[in-house]
Order: sequence, then C-alpha cells, then structure tokens
Amino acid sequence: MFSLPDHIKKVHVYEPGKPEEELKRELGLKEIVKLASNENPLGPCPSAVRAIVEDLKNLNRYPDGNSYYLKEKLASHLGVKRKNLFVGLGSNEALDIISRAYLRPGLNAVYSEKSFAVYPIVVQLSGADHKVVKAKDNYYMDLKAHLDAIDENTAVVFLANPNNPTGTAFSRAEFEAFLKDFPDDVLLVLDEAYYEYAVGAGFNVPNGPDYIYEKNIVVTRTFSKIYGLAGLRLGYAVAREEIIADMNRIRQPFNVTRPAQVGGAAALDDKMFVKHSQVVNEEGKKYLYNEFEKLGLEYVPTYANFILVKVGYPSREVFNRLLRKGVIVRAMDGYGFPDHIRVTVGTMRENIIFINKLKEVLEELKEGK
Ligand SMILES: *Cc1c(COP(=O)(O)O)cnc(C)c1O
Repeated sequence: MFSLPDHIKKVHVYEPGKPEEELKRELGLKEIVKLASNENPLGPCPSAVRAIVEDLKNLNRYPDGNSYYLKEKLASHLGVKRKNLFVGLGSNEALDIISRAYLRPGLNAVYSEKSFAVYPIVVQLSGADHKVVKAKDNYYMDLKAHLDAIDENTAVVFLANPNNPTGTAFSRAEFEAFLKDFPDDVLLVLDEAYYEYAVGAGFNVPNGPDYIYEKNIVVTRTFSKIYGLAGLRLGYAVAREEIIADMNRIRQPFNVTRPAQVGGAAALDDKMFVKHSQVVNEEGKKYLYNEFEKLGLEYVPTYANFILVKVGYPSREVFNRLLRKGVIVRAMDGYGFPDHIRVTVGTMRENIIFINKLKEVLEELKEGK
C-alpha cells in the first residue's frame, strides 16, 4: 500500500516565475525585462561559459563524484580545507540535506517569518515543527528573538545574511554578540547567498567560514547570484568536517554535473566579473533609491542585488500591471508585505525601463483606471 505522508501533502509547492518566452508569446511583446529572481543582469560569468564549452566534449563521462578540483579552488578561495566543503545542486540542495540530516518529527526549526521561502519547505518535508520568529520593525531580522525561540527540541536555526526578500543584513559585531549566546547543541545555518553583494556595498558583513569552529555552523553560498550561473545549479556549504561528512552520506554520488564543476572552478578565478557585477549593482541601487525617493516610495536599504519597495497599492495588482507591460518583478504579499514588490537591480537600461513602467502603473492606479 503506497501513500504520501500527511506532512508532505501539506507542502506548499514553490511557485517560480513564469518563463520569459511563454510570457512574450502570451503578451505579444518583443522584450521582457525580468527583475524577479535576483539573477545577475550581466549574464553568466564569461570565464565559466568558456570552460564549460571546452569541457562539453567529455559529457559522455561521469563527473568527479568528489568534485576534487572545484573543492580545491573553493578551499583556497575561502581559506578552509577541502574536508570543510560540501558542493551541491544549488545551495538549495545543501539546505534540503541539512533538514533531512538533522530534522525529524518531534524536533523543530527556527527561522524568520520574512525570510527565504525555501526554509519552510525543507522543514515541512522533514516532518519537523516550525518556530517562526517575528521580524523587527517590519523589515529587520530579530537575532535576539531567534535565540528566545530556541527550546529543548530545536535542532536547526536558519538565518539569511543578507536576507531575502528584505535585503537587510546584520554586521559582524551583531553576529558575534548573537553567537556568544547561541547554544552548543543546535545547528546554525547561515545562508550567505548574497554575501559578495554585501561586500560590494562596503558593509562589515561577517564572513561565515571564519566561525565554523566556534559553534555548530553551516554556511551556505551559491554560484546562482553574483557569478550569474543560476541555470547551472551550483552551490556549496562550509562547515566542520563531521557535519560535512553527515551531509555527504545523504547526497547522490554524482550530484554536481561536469559543466557545474568546471564552470564553478573557472568562475572563482574571474575576480573582474565579480568586481564589475558589484559596481553595476551599486550604481543601479543608487539610481533606484533616487527614483523611489522622487516618487515618494518607502524602500528598504539593501545589501543584496534586489530592493523591497512599498508601492502603496496591493502587491498583486502592481505586479500584474507591470507584467502586462513586460516587466517581471516579485509580488510580496505572500511574505507579509501586502503592498510591497521586490525588484532585482538590473542593468541601467533595465532599471530605467522598470522605473518608467512603474510610474505608468502608479499613475493608472491613482486615476482609478
Ligand atoms: C537565491 C537564494 C539562494 C540560492 O539558491 P540556489 O539553490 O543556490 O540557486 C539561497 N538562499 C537565498 C536566501 C536566496 O535568495
């Protein structure tokens, strides 16, 4: 007799945005500006693309199941050992494996109500309970409240820094104060998907890998954001070797493809691409802040490559109207922000198109059209 367990029946299926090609066809538009998924608007890291094309002739061969060369590169990039590294199918695989390893019915996980949508999903899949922490002043991660929420059944705490969808971040000093009081028998997952953007903003962001021997910490990072390789599905985790060994027991033997291994390794050498992406992001942020101010819109200063902005009309309505004009953003009503959208910082050209279309939409709504 086969059946799906109740806790899995209750999983909310993650809804990704509509594919661009489908939208173009539906709306008969020539151009779509996609600022919905925090992708790098400059395209994929060119060194990665070259390395992948070069290696395609070997696609008949299985990848290295231990990702030796990629881990070697990552280890020197981060100043850790290969045994401190897990690589996987996006950092999402690391989050999922952590949940499968350390959560189960009877235990619980702590995370913020206004954080990454994947945490509730992986916790739900594990059958564990959720302890959802309120945000501070609507937008900020309340570190103290995370500590207060921990009880004797808490196994894992998830923290994103910078956080998605708010773009807020906590500093090294705030993190160290938090860590001092963090219990020794709980695992902290520090999700640093946007770390490189926080560095590019000149923010004093804690570098997760520096802390992996202080408490039980897993740091996750990704090639999906600043390296522009979201389609490759490559991410990694940094932790003490015992934790990495646990995670490796659970993963599939060939979870990282050949293109991902060679592309990721080449991307790590392309410091210019990262630098350029940081500069373009900072310029885009400045432009968007300025335009939001001129429009009298409240926005949350960001340490990532997206901005949460309060548009003052129902989130879905603004989202749908922008969509019909060929601009895809993210509606934020599902995150407890009924009149906010989240927009990825694009190229300057994309940012200008977005602002022009947003102005049109706000004008229409104001006139009750
Ligand atoms: C985009 C994002 C990720 C990246 O996930 P991948 O599986 O590596 O593509 C992880 N965490 C957060 C908070 C994100 O916004």
